[in-house]
Parts: sequence; C-alpha cells; structure tokens
Amino acid sequence: MKIYNTLNARKEELVPIREGKIGMYVCGPTVYNLIHIGNARPMIVFDTFRRYLEYKGFDVTYVSNFTDVDDKIIKRAIEEESTAREVAEKYIEECKKDMAALNIRPATVAPQATKEIEGMQEMIQTLIDRGYAYVKNGTVYYRTRKFKGYGKLSKKNLDDMQSGHRDIKVTGEEEKEDPADFVLWKPKKEGEPFWTSPWSDGRPGWHIECSVMAKRYLGDTIDIHAGGEDLIFPHHENEIAQSEAANDAPFAHYWMHNAFLNIDGSKMSKSAGNFFTVRDIIAKYDPQVLRFFMLSAHYRSPLNFSDTLMDSAKSGLDRIRNAASNLDYILANPGNRSESAAEGENPEFAVPFIEKFENAMDDDCNTADAIAAVFELVREINSTVTDQSSVAYVKAAKNALETLCSVLGIILEEEKEDLDSEVEALIEERQAARKAKNFQRADEIRSQLDQMGIVLEDTREGVKWHRK
Ligand code: AMP
Ligand code: ZN
Repeated sequence: MKIYNTLNARKEELVPIREGKIGMYVCGPTVYNLIHIGNARPMIVFDTFRRYLEYKGFDVTYVSNFTDVDDKIIKRAIEEESTAREVAEKYIEECKKDMAALNIRPATVAPQATKEIEGMQEMIQTLIDRGYAYVKNGTVYYRTRKFKGYGKLSKKNLDDMQSGHRDIKVTGEEEKEDPADFVLWKPKKEGEPFWTSPWSDGRPGWHIECSVMAKRYLGDTIDIHAGGEDLIFPHHENEIAQSEAANDAPFAHYWMHNAFLNIDGSKMSKSAGNFFTVRDIIAKYDPQVLRFFMLSAHYRSPLNFSDTLMDSAKSGLDRIRNAASNLDYILANPGNRSESAAEGENPEFAVPFIEKFENAMDDDCNTADAIAAVFELVREINSTVTDQSSVAYVKAAKNALETLCSVLGIILEEEKEDLDSEVEALIEERQAARKAKNFQRADEIRSQLDQMGIVLEDTREGVKWHRK
C-alpha cells in the first residue's frame, strides 16, 4: 500500500514500525462551536483510511485529540457567560454526536489537552534542560533555530521566514530571542483558566499538546500523523521540532494531509464565517450523503461544496442502496431457486471489482476511484442478478457490496424508523383499496407517497418501494 508522505513529498510504500500494527495520530478540532463540514473532512477521510487499514488486517491504534483550552474557547465562554471547561465539554459532546451521525468511529483514544497538562510540563522541562527552550517573564519559548531539522515538513527556510518577520511586532515578540521562536507555555491573563507551573500560573501552547498526547498514547515514534493541510505550518512543523528535540527520535514516519473543503472557491472556516455546520447539512440530507460526498474526491484534492454536488452524491448513493435493497428483497423471497450457483453463474464474479477497489485504496487512499469500482460492481449486479438467480450468486453480490461499503463507512440501510412504518402502512392501505376496487383512494395514496419522495414499483413479487 502506498501513501503520499508530505515529509518526503512523494508516494511511499507503507512500512509499519511493528509488523501488523499501525499507530496513527490525527489532529482533532478545537471545541468552541459546532463542527463545520470542513472539520468533518479530515475526520471522514482518515476514518476511512483507518477502516481500510483494518480491512487489510492491521491492528490500528487511532488517536485523535480534542483541543479544549484555547483563546477561542475562552472568548466563547465569556460570550456564553459560562466557563471554558463547560464550553469545551458541551462542544465535545456535540462533536461526538455529529461524528456518530457520519459513522466516524470513535478513536481508540480521544485525549483532551486539559487532562494532559502534567505530560506537557514534563516535555517543556526536558526542552528547557536540553537547551531547546527558554523562559522569559513566565513565558516559555521554543528556541527554533537550535533545531536543525526545522522546516523539513513545510519546506520552509528559517532565513526566508525571518525576512518576512522583520517588521512584524506582536505582543511579547520583543522578549523572544528570535522572531521564529514559538510559545510552549504562557502566563494566564485575568479570568483565564490556568495551571501552576515552575514558570508561571498559565497554560500550554497549542503545539505542545499534540506532541505530548502522541507520545503518551503511541510512543516516541509513530507511524502516521495526519490532519488538514493548513496544519503543516506551523503546527506540524513545531510538533516535529518539540518531539524530536525532546525524545531524540524521529517523530512520525508518514505525514498525511487532506486538502480543504472550499465554498465558492475559498476555504470554509469558522473565522471567515463562510461555513455550514454538520448540523445544518444533516438537517437537509441523510448524513451518509455528506460522507459519500466527501469520499467522492481524493483526499488531497480540494473539494468544493455545492448543492449540485450533494445532489449528485445523493443519487450515486441511492443507486448503490437500491441495488442492495433489491438483493435483500430477492434473498428474502427465495422461492424455489437453487442454493448453489446455477449454470453460467460465477459466484466469484465480484472478485475483479474488489481488486479494483483495493488497488484504488492502495494507491494513496484513492476513495474516488474506489467508489468508481463500487459503481461498476453495482452495474454488474443490476445487469446480472434477477429473481431467478441462485441464492449463492445473490449472496456473493450482497457480501461484496456490503464489504466495500463498510470499508468506506457507508451505511447501506437508509435512516428508516418512523417513516418506514408510515410508508408501509400507506402501502398496505393502498393494496386494500385496490382490492376493494377503490382506485381513487389507491391513486391518492400513490400521490401522497410521491410527495414524500417514495417511489412504488408493482412487481411480480408484490409492491416494492424506494426513496427517489
Ligand atoms: P480546527 O478546529 O480549526 O483546529 O480544525 C480541526 C481540523 O479540521 C484540522 O485538521 C483542520 O486542518 C481541519 N479543517 C478545518 N477547516 C477545514 C476545511 N475547510 N477543509 C478541510 N479541513 C479543514
Ligand atoms: Zn495537532
């Protein structure tokens, strides 16, 4: 399996540190608001990658954090007349609900920064002891220039950056030894949450959180570190500088970065205000449509959000779901068809499609091509499976479809529940009306169902229905 490694700017064979095992760290959201669909992109693509690794037999430890102490959280707490802790806890819960709706599996460990302060203080102390950090008026800074590999991920050169920095003066900048130095620990301001430390009552910088949580749950060197491409610099570059200076070991062998979800051609972001929350979108669409939409592009390609693309994701997903529900129907009504494959039927027929799917996923997690392979399988199923097909053949079709969709994290069953029973009751009433030759009532019900987006099909086996 090959993945694109930002560190070496090329696709590379994935070779785990320990055979059969993968340790993976994905930077999680800062929890001060409901997550937007841009934040959902890394969650969905890396969850899918994790599922594929597991499908290939790897034992995956997947760590994804919540950043629960941050200026934005504190600001939000003031606005909501609440505390930073309450704000963070509330939005962690809301984020977990959105993740569940999108079928994003919970991480093996989902650490919270505020619960890892001790480890952060230890790493900061190590960096001070090793000469990689210094204290000025209660603030601890990282001595960027001392770390020889600085810039290796983002391909930035400290001297070029320096010339850009020269005229910028921000608060605290004058006490730094060098403008490229960044904060590891900062003193509290009035009313802010804080922890006592040898340097000041204060809180950690953002970058140190991930270095420490990755080390605690995955060790000094991890297989894969992932996140959105906006994190390459400075966040991931700084994580490398901290971790490698403190641990004397390479930090991550592979770095994976997803491209942005855009809207009207620019990055969707909370600060720019051009965002839709996951909640907004799943009020309009089945959450599986959003997941399917995200996977319809390669994770390293920018993806523009639009109703048109969502509608085409919906019809694509419906095509797959209709094929699956037809197979279910045929399996539930076997009649007197044979158990084993009939003449001319090859129960291994799905193998080439599965191989195509795997080849796409092995090529840097190309979900777009993997979905194309699923569509080809659907086409084959639709043109070869009939109500006369043997049980073995139909089962092979269903298993293949189910397996590939579960790697993508796509749930084949639609959200049914209440609507289902309402639809089924109406269909029954329509059947009764037809039996009683009350065609007017039967037509009324058909158009009522039509308005609900339900399509009826009168087949030899009875009435079948699906959503438009
Ligand atoms: P944040 O809450 O801003 O720290 O972001 C959490 C994760 O979402 C990070 O991995 C970001 O890179 C990612 N992210 C934020 N906005 C977008 C976007 N518009 N498209 C793709 N990823 C994004
Ligand atoms: Zn991070």
